[in-house]
Order: sequence, then structure tokens, then C-alpha cells
Amino acid sequence: MTDPMVPDRPGDDIGSSVETLLGIRPFLEAILRPLAAICREKTRLVETLVREGGSCPVEVDGSRLDRGAPLCNGMNVFLLQEALRRCFPPMLEVLGKYFAHLGPRVSRIADPNGGRNLSALSGALLDGDHATFREAARSIGADDWALDLAVRSGLAPALGWVAVSARPDLAGIDWANGYCPVCRSMPDISYLTRAGDLGSEFLRGGGGKRYLHCSLCGYRWGIPRNMCPVCRTDDHEKRMFYEADGVPGERVDVCLECRCYLPCIDLRQTPSTPPMEIAAAGMIHLDVWAVENGYRPLAQTPWNHVG
Ligand SMILES: [Zn+2]
Ligand SMILES: [Zn+2]
Repeated sequence: MTDPMVPDRPGDDIGSSVETLLGIRPFLEAILRPLAAICREKTRLVETLVREGGSCPVEVDGSRLDRGAPLCNGMNVFLLQEALRRCFPPMLEVLGKYFAHLGPRVSRIADPNGGRNLSALSGALLDGDHATFREAARSIGADDWALDLAVRSGLAPALGWVAVSARPDLAGIDWANGYCPVCRSMPDISYLTRAGDLGSEFLRGGGGKRYLHCSLCGYRWGIPRNMCPVCRTDDHEKRMFYEADGVPGERVDVCLECRCYLPCIDLRQTPSTPPMEIAAAGMIHLDVWAVENGYRPLAQTPWNHVG
């Protein structure tokens, strides 16, 4: 279920991947610079929590996973309370630098005197409880989307800690769903693995196993190569892809059955393995193509609001 070829924590690859992409698509500067800063801070926080936070804070319950229930939900997110308290202030500070229009009100959710409960907001987001969200947004005078972006950003590193620390226990579990086993979010990108042993004639045609990358916690899990993550069809006549001229290995998979799309990067055709968030944002031209052709994204991200 897990892919050992891609590191959990992208570290220094963020900077070099952004520079490579900007060399090809300089018009992405306004998207990739803020995203790089957000990813760097998230990576720093995940590393800190892995180092100082001890073992996985959420129990990996095989029988729950077998029933399709992810590790984290609105009921047990309080186990991440301390991590949330550590993650929200620095993540909101980075967001505030780049998204000035978020407004100072949103940062009040991390203020101990501001009256917002980070666990409750995070639980509402994980459970898709829109009513709680709307009420919270109204009470601080913020837009729903601004509060959503802020809570996602603060929650992401805490869930990233769970994703990294639960990985050994999740490795043996067969999870063939299109949503994340850690946090139930949908993927923002899929990728096809490169061959295991570069230079081996025998393995040169290998690789090509498909993984999904969670848009919130960053966990990665394998899925049948042609299966739609949403409606699960694997009908070859319903599953198509589109690739633009330019960088080899970049494409967008679309499903004619449910009209969803998901960008995909074929690592057999790329010289290095970029952090997946950066790779996903770097393919915004494919998002634009997909939305213009009537498809919708699996996960809403700050950069795919193009429709
Ligand atoms: Zn996840
Ligand atoms: Zn589908």
C-alpha cells in the first residue's frame, strides 16, 4: 500500500522543484512562491512533531480501516489538540504573508482568547460539517472559503504527523478507496512510480504502479492503475487522459462516468521526484483545460479555483 520510493518529508526538494518549474512556466511565480513557503513551514512542523511528539497519537485500528473508516475524524481529532495548538499560529502567519485578503479576523481562530476551538473546527472540517463551519465563519466575520483555507493549513501538519507515524502500521493494510485512509480527504494528484532499480535492463520497463497523494495530510496510497477514485469505474472507454505539450510525464486523467479529473505525473518520464503538492500546482494549465471541458477537481485547492 505504501510507496518507499517517494520521501514522506520533501525538505530541500521544495526549492529546487519550484526553480525547475519556474524555468518552464515563469507565469506560475505568484502561485509557486507562496505554496513553497507554506510547504516549507508544514514540512518543518511535521518534522518537529515526528521528532518530539512520540508515537502515533491515533490508534491504527485495522477493523475500522477494513470498513472504510479513516484514522482521523471529528470524534478523535481532540487527540491532536496539542499539535494543533503548535501548528496553527505559524501556519496562519505564513498564510497571512501571502493571502493578505484572508484578513486579520481569520487569524483570531488561533488566539487562545479568540474563543474558537481548534479541535472543533478541525473536526467539523474532517467530517464535512458545513453548518458548524458557516456558523464559525459568521461569528468571526470571515468568508467560509477563508476559514476553510486557514483550518486546512493549520490542520495539515498535525495530520501529516499522523500520516508519517502511522505509515508502518498502515503498510500492511489493503486500502483500495479513492479517499485518504488517514483523513478522508480526496487526492490532489496521482503519480506512476519509476522502475525500482535504475540501470537494470530487466526492470527498465517496470514501475508504473499508481499512487494517490492526499490533498490534506500528504499520505500516499496505491490504487488500481485505471480505477476512478470517485466512482471506481475501470472501464477503459470511460477513463481518458489529456496531456499538453511541454514537460514529459504530465497529464490529467478524466472520468467520463462521473466527470471528475485528477492530474497525474509519470515519474518514469521525469528526471527527479518533486514534492507532490508542488507538482500538482505546477500543472495548473491542465486544471484549466479540465474545468473548461466540464470536469471538476477531486479536491479543492487554492490554485484550482479556476472555474
Ligand atoms: Zn489524508
Ligand atoms: Zn469516475
